[in-house]
Amino acid sequence: MTKQQSILGLLPEELTGLVKERHFPAYRAKQILGWIYKKNIFCLLEMPNLPQDFCKALAGFLKVLSLTCVKKHVSAQDKTIKYVFKTEDGNFLESVFIPQKGRFTVCLSSQAGCSFNCAFCASGSRGYKRNLTVAEIINQLLWIKKEHSNNKITNIVFMGMGEPLANYESVLKAIKIFNHPDTLCFGARRITISTCGLAPEISRLIKENLQVELSISLHAANDKLRDKLMPVNKIYPLRDLIAAAREYTKVTHRVVTFEYVLISGINE
Ligand code: SF4
Repeated sequence: MTKQQSILGLLPEELTGLVKERHFPAYRAKQILGWIYKKNIFCLLEMPNLPQDFCKALAGFLKVLSLTCVKKHVSAQDKTIKYVFKTEDGNFLESVFIPQKGRFTVCLSSQAGCSFNCAFCASGSRGYKRNLTVAEIINQLLWIKKEHSNNKITNIVFMGMGEPLANYESVLKAIKIFNHPDTLCFGARRITISTCGLAPEISRLIKENLQVELSISLHAANDKLRDKLMPVNKIYPLRDLIAAAREYTKVTHRVVTFEYVLISGINE
């Protein structure tokens, strides 16, 4: 049996190519994307106004979702909702829906586990499993978007499990899909990539001309302490990181933000 590929991993142009290869009109791809991204319909066979022969032909090798939501936890304090998803190969990842006065932010994971081992982080302590696919990244957002269809998602942040710039290609492609007029048309300026400090990838991001927000997990103001809290600092020390951040601001004219967790007696 042919393995089904997820539509969520495809740019609209790629889906159009597949549709045309099967001798169906190109506009059918746009219709499918409309059902998925605008109407939250995730089954090809449940999309009204599409011919059954077309839906069946595509369902033979394409599907929409690849993650299963296995747990949901609502915070009594601030109504934040944490979702735990399971991948088809048995890995787990988390995403968070954050409601704040008129803003609805979704925090996405980019990897199952993480290899960077920051001292204060639970994801790092569980070890690295693998990079998430583009489809798995987008699946998280669409699932949460459907659950909260009365609230328009206003912001997307890559601050969940994993280091987004260590899964550069997939994260960038997911952003381009979010941004595309045939999907969500989600402005890049409302998308934030949070990094532990991969200076070369920050320099690479500058050249993408994408206008995404960049946030840096700093957590220490000198190399000695940062080496201990965030081992990545031994590879890309503060001098290199700050130079890359300055360059990002200079070229993109975006403000770089810094995250700093205060740990009593350690870094405050
Ligand atoms: S890079 Fe991010 S996810 Fe990975 S260990 Fe550090 S804080 Fe945790």
